[in-house]
Amino acid sequence: MICVSIGRGRHRHVIVEQQHLVDNGIRLVELRLDYLQGEVQVKRLLKDRPCPVIVTCRRKTDGGRWEHSEDARLRLLRTAIVEGADYVDLEDDVAAGVPRYGATKRIVSHHDFQKMPADLTHLHRRLASMDADVVKIAAMANHPTDNLRMLEMVHASRSPTVGICMGEIGVPTRVLGGRAGAPFTFATFNEDRALAPGQIGWRQMKEMYRYDSITPATKIYGVVADPVAHSLSPVVHNAALAAAGIDAVYLPFRVPPEQIDEFLSASARWPLTGLSVTLPHKEAVLRHASRVDGLVKAIGAANTLSFAADGIVAANTDASAAVESLAAALETDEQPSGGDGLGLKTAIVLGAGGAARAVAFGLKQRGIEVTVTSRTVERAQKIAAEVGCKVVDWSARHRMPFDCVVNATPVGMHPNVNECPYEKEHLRPYMAVFDTVYNPENTLLIKEARSVGCRIVTGVDMFVRQAAIQFRIWHGTEPPQHVMREALKRATASAKQPT
Ligand code: NAP
Repeated sequence: MICVSIGRGRHRHVIVEQQHLVDNGIRLVELRLDYLQGEVQVKRLLKDRPCPVIVTCRRKTDGGRWEHSEDARLRLLRTAIVEGADYVDLEDDVAAGVPRYGATKRIVSHHDFQKMPADLTHLHRRLASMDADVVKIAAMANHPTDNLRMLEMVHASRSPTVGICMGEIGVPTRVLGGRAGAPFTFATFNEDRALAPGQIGWRQMKEMYRYDSITPATKIYGVVADPVAHSLSPVVHNAALAAAGIDAVYLPFRVPPEQIDEFLSASARWPLTGLSVTLPHKEAVLRHASRVDGLVKAIGAANTLSFAADGIVAANTDASAAVESLAAALETDEQPSGGDGLGLKTAIVLGAGGAARAVAFGLKQRGIEVTVTSRTVERAQKIAAEVGCKVVDWSARHRMPFDCVVNATPVGMHPNVNECPYEKEHLRPYMAVFDTVYNPENTLLIKEARSVGCRIVTGVDMFVRQAAIQFRIWHGTEPPQHVMREALKRATASAKQPT
């Protein structure tokens, strides 16, 4: 069950939000009394409540906003119990002093905003011994395997237990709590106003992660990156999984570079079935692969892992996605690698990072003469040596005409939407222009190329295709690409952050 935390300054807003949630199928709400301004009217909030509630009043030391005396706080909690609140949240240092009364259930909680407790089992035993109906432990995750410790503790506990890792690293515990046996998880009413670090919005929890349909049989996929919060892969993959009726969930795993080895070594404990891989892990993950596909060998980087009984299989879907996107835009038939050059003889790739390398490789494989250019010429030279293509100075990128211009830099990406990596006056109607940036889809480069009459390929095309190839690899079935595309477009339209 999803419990939505409401933290508002006015009683009226709390009541309106609770009704809205109930109208949308939410069956448990946490009322955060510490957010209320003025005199807190517990009775008013509990009278005629449309669904069961947890009453919580958090001190500042526990991540809350309560500014008044501890006596006044405890009085409020006792009033909530007397008024018949369904649950009351009691921190472990006060729980023993607040006796059970009536039908109100006691959540005995422990918070640590710095780190995971060293001995979770011991802590759990101590909290459970305080006449707890539910034990709640919320601790800051500093390491991806903190998630596993927390979920394993929830799974092993004999009494109802909610275990949450806070922060960006801890998001998987919020989504997988029910799978481990937790009676509920916490989400926030408004995504932009999380009440605890890493808390996600209730719509996301309900509609994107489909929390209520996750069971122990649900397979776990995800994207591994650092940072990961901005990744749109969960949006795209979860939408496709839902549309295809596949019992799986796709999560964001934030894994710092120095922890990738430990994270992958622990894959069976989740257990993980498949991972998308992005910055900064595309090369490091190869140390763990027992098999790699031909493109991974050639490009030296993987963006897709599949966890099989006999080891980890690494693949790269970026190069194929880039070439497929171009092929579709140019209306040429897909041909096996080594076939024709999509009707293009020459291409210039702007940028010399991971995307540039994959695109340059894909184009080169089609027999296209590729030139790479980058602000940092050494990076372009490295790709040129690996892929077998030419290099021009960044300042000289307009000097020669090319059949195809590919932007593989972040120039033009939100919020810098007025920037363009290639001057319009050098665009010609016979050119194909491919911008790998997908947020926004219609970058300035794409708009200018369209106005000149060029054939265009957008980053959305490429992003959806690389996700679709991953989907085929993992699920062995045709992905609902229109669903993926729509989900990506909706997410980029509402995104406030660069991706
Ligand atoms: P990366 O490894 O960090 O490489 C970025 C490249 O862009 C570097 O060569 C960098 O040059 C250059 N660059 C950065 N800012 C620049 C600027 N202001 N002017 C000129 N050059 C600049 O990143 P990446 O993973 O290759 O990603 C690059 C872009 O591709 C991103 O915008 C990403 O959104 C997009 N992408 C799209 C897809 C898709 O499916 N559509 C997939 C992957 C990536 P220096 O070395 O000089 O810094």
